[in-house]
Amino acid sequence: MALTRRAALFGAGAAVGVAGSRWMGAANPSLDGVRIIAPAGGEATLNDASLLSETPIFKHVIVTDPPGEALINALRAELKAADAANRPVAIGAARHSMGGQSIPRDGHAITLDAPFVSHETGAETYRVQAGTRWHQVITALDPLGLSPKVMQSNADFGVASTFSVGAHGWPMPYGPMGSTVRSVQMLLADGSLVTASRSENADLFAAAMGGYGLIGLITELEVEAVPNQLLEPTFQTLPAADFVTAFTTVADGSTPMAYGRLNIDREGFFDDAMLVTYRPIPGEIPPASGSGFLSKASRAIFRAQPGNEWVKRRRWGIETGIGAMLAGASSRSSLMNEPVITLDDRDPTRTDILHEYFVAPDRFGDFIAAAKEIIPGSYQELLNITLRYVAQDPTAMLSYAPNGPRIASVLLFSQEMTARAEADMARMTQEMIEAVLAIGGSYYLPYRLHATQDQFLRCYPRAAELAALKRQIDPGLRFRNALWDTYMGQL
Ligand SMILES: Cc1cc2nc3c(=O)[nH]c(=O)nc-3n(C[C@H](O)[C@H](O)[C@H](O)COP(=O)(O)OP(=O)(O)OC[C@H]3O[C@@H](n4cnc5c(N)ncnc54)[C@H](O)[C@@H]3O)c2cc1C
Repeated sequence: MALTRRAALFGAGAAVGVAGSRWMGAANPSLDGVRIIAPAGGEATLNDASLLSETPIFKHVIVTDPPGEALINALRAELKAADAANRPVAIGAARHSMGGQSIPRDGHAITLDAPFVSHETGAETYRVQAGTRWHQVITALDPLGLSPKVMQSNADFGVASTFSVGAHGWPMPYGPMGSTVRSVQMLLADGSLVTASRSENADLFAAAMGGYGLIGLITELEVEAVPNQLLEPTFQTLPAADFVTAFTTVADGSTPMAYGRLNIDREGFFDDAMLVTYRPIPGEIPPASGSGFLSKASRAIFRAQPGNEWVKRRRWGIETGIGAMLAGASSRSSLMNEPVITLDDRDPTRTDILHEYFVAPDRFGDFIAAAKEIIPGSYQELLNITLRYVAQDPTAMLSYAPNGPRIASVLLFSQEMTARAEADMARMTQEMIEAVLAIGGSYYLPYRLHATQDQFLRCYPRAAELAALKRQIDPGLRFRNALWDTYMGQL
């Protein structure tokens, strides 16, 4: 790839200084969400952010090359070795998916870890090495007055991962981050390097967007940026029943960022809503910062919630009251530059588990009714629910919004790390999915794989098409992970 006239080149030192592949044999504390255990006997296991996915692997290699020949050769060598031994390969970045979607059972796990962003003056897009984390993209774009058009709400994740899970964020009124990707370069199972976009290898692009690494190893992407802005928040509290009208009203292009919340204390569970909208204001845009004082201060309250209804009510009061009063203007990029660690769970007996459901705006009332019915009956501690707007995604084969815009409900639970809690979570998840499917909605795939196969197939009717395409280009089924093994291996 010709990287000429680079207006921004981030991580040149890191990329050049440590270019090459590093072999992993022990825990690497610098990687969030990765646990590597190498007991005597040479066997290793890999886990993900759920802490519940510990899976035996053959080996784990971290590749730190910038885009170009060395990166391609390192990945090809890995593919060739896996092919010779008929072992699966899965690639990942932060491994914050929660059900083994980035882990190959008894196979070759590859982690891409090299920050590399390049932008040509005046271009609407930038090129990025697939494993670059979002905070590194922000650091590169910020001095140019640019900001990611869509990214997920936390900045620790890899760019190709975000594309590969079909992740969305809270910039309005866009679809998933993949809708802002112009093209990807990808290594297929036979070692060939292809470019895929909406006009070139369009079927591969549609399968790889939200395709969980099952189609190929993405090496770099061309992604759209937008001008950075100074934004001022407005907080509005309203009955949950009125939320969708207010939310969809601001999805008209006038509001660059917005999200919602619902109250979670059991007394008034999901009765009240808060809509936070951001509008551009004039003024100097400060350099992108990380987690603000308010985010850090809110951690103690956030983590005191399990089993404590009083704290849950106080948190809602603080967020809608003093929190709203203290929140000031921020840059667009700073708002998205939040690390996961800010709200980290430090309790070794519990783990944080996410769920996410997508419903058409006119079915949001039905979603609330179903959630009120199902969630309080479980043992799980709901810590938070965030509401986002996601525009239709007509591209991805495994699209969760194929027919129109969706209201996304992101639910964060604290789960006990016991077999009883896991069984209860599986039961509650299946009930939620059933209720959401009944109202024409869908659920999100990067979390625990508790859905039944029947639920998966009803929610993602093009899964068989994706599996057929994969079998054509990857007949040895080299790219496999727990998502494939659980739902698609038999298709
Ligand atoms: C705290 C938290 C916040 C989150 N916030 C959001 C959010 O705001 N919006 C949202 O939509 N989702 C969100 N998610 C879900 C999140 O999008 C996924 O977990 C995402 O995969 C995280 O990126 P990662 O680098 O950890 O991915 P990984 O878990 O490392 O990988 C995810 C998938 O992408 C594939 N993949 C990774 N790199 C490549 C590559 N180079 N080529 C091909 N395939 C590849 C992997 O094989 C795997 O299937 C959140 C998750 C957590 C835990």
